[in-house]
Amino acid sequence: MNIDVLELTAELVKYESISRATNVPVTRHLAKVLRALGFKVEMLPYTDAAGVAKLTIVARLGRAEKGGLSLMSHDDVVPAGSADDWTGNPFQVREHGGKLYGRGACDMKGPLAASICAACRFTAGDLRQPLYIVVTSDEEINALGAREVVDRSKLFADLRHGYGVICEPTCLQVVHAHKGSLGLTITSKGRAAHTSSLKGVNANLKMIPFLNEMRKVNESVLTSRRYRNDEFKPPHSEWSIGINDNNVATNVSPAQSVCTVNYRPMPGTDTNALVRRTRKCASDLGLKCVVHRTGSPLYTPKDAPIVRTSLALAGRRTPTTVAYGTDGLAYSEQMKQLVVLGPGDIAQAHTVDEWIEVDQLHKGVELYTRFIDHVCVQGLA
Ligand SMILES: [Zn+2]
Repeated sequence: MNIDVLELTAELVKYESISRATNVPVTRHLAKVLRALGFKVEMLPYTDAAGVAKLTIVARLGRAEKGGLSLMSHDDVVPAGSADDWTGNPFQVREHGGKLYGRGACDMKGPLAASICAACRFTAGDLRQPLYIVVTSDEEINALGAREVVDRSKLFADLRHGYGVICEPTCLQVVHAHKGSLGLTITSKGRAAHTSSLKGVNANLKMIPFLNEMRKVNESVLTSRRYRNDEFKPPHSEWSIGINDNNVATNVSPAQSVCTVNYRPMPGTDTNALVRRTRKCASDLGLKCVVHRTGSPLYTPKDAPIVRTSLALAGRRTPTTVAYGTDGLAYSEQMKQLVVLGPGDIAQAHTVDEWIEVDQLHKGVELYTRFIDHVCVQGLA
């Protein structure tokens, strides 16, 4: 069966699968396409914290066996913002000047379509090693779909021994490492009352010394050698501090004050000391501190077999690193042969009038085809 990469991208973009909405319809559509290509599809439905139905799928072509090749994507997208800012309807693909415009065209329905178009050139009978296509939900928020794969997928238990290619846009450069993620929420409780009465307790007051300490942590992670890794650009990560008291009116003492912290640890960064320092400061001040499920940095050594194979197949000399995260946050602990490699430029992701070059999409299909042929058909490492 032949599938056109531009047509499939256009079909996928039509589904408004922004992360806070459901991705079930677009994922069901993909499951149908994959079944028609001979894939066995494992469905991993779940309900997110807001009660919205989500669906992640893991599909396999070929016999059940440890190893093989996984082409990994997500089908949620960031919101389009105001449609008025776009030249056309963000959910209706428009081709102009060698570019395909639309929300998710680049991040990452286009690259996902490229992986499926490569897969459609093979049948189960061609393969010595299995080929997997993984499509997750909630990547743009917290990689929840990828965590479902790691925690629940029966196919993941096999595929994690093989090669994983995360098809996010890298301009077809081989990315062997990216930063991780760490999130903390610190809450101060007060009591609301009219400020004229002096009966309230302003929750922000206890937060002020805490914020001062967070500022010092930020200075430390931005300057200390211990938190520097020259393999990345920039070589430091920010201790990004958010504050919010959601106060109802200026003449009411704020009843709650919330500080959020986000940090992108690099491979080798020990975040335990930072978390301990934050917890201790919060507890000394009577604040509640919650550490969110964190994501590990992705780090596949430059001389790992998958990196060497990717470089050879992509015609590149050296692998590179990126500062953003991917579903690799969830996969990397259990999957050791993992790279990020996909068509399109991440600079276009999340933008108004998001686009991907048509040429990149075609090159992506060709590269994934070579990958499948090398790993699954020829059975080479
Ligand atoms: Zn993405």
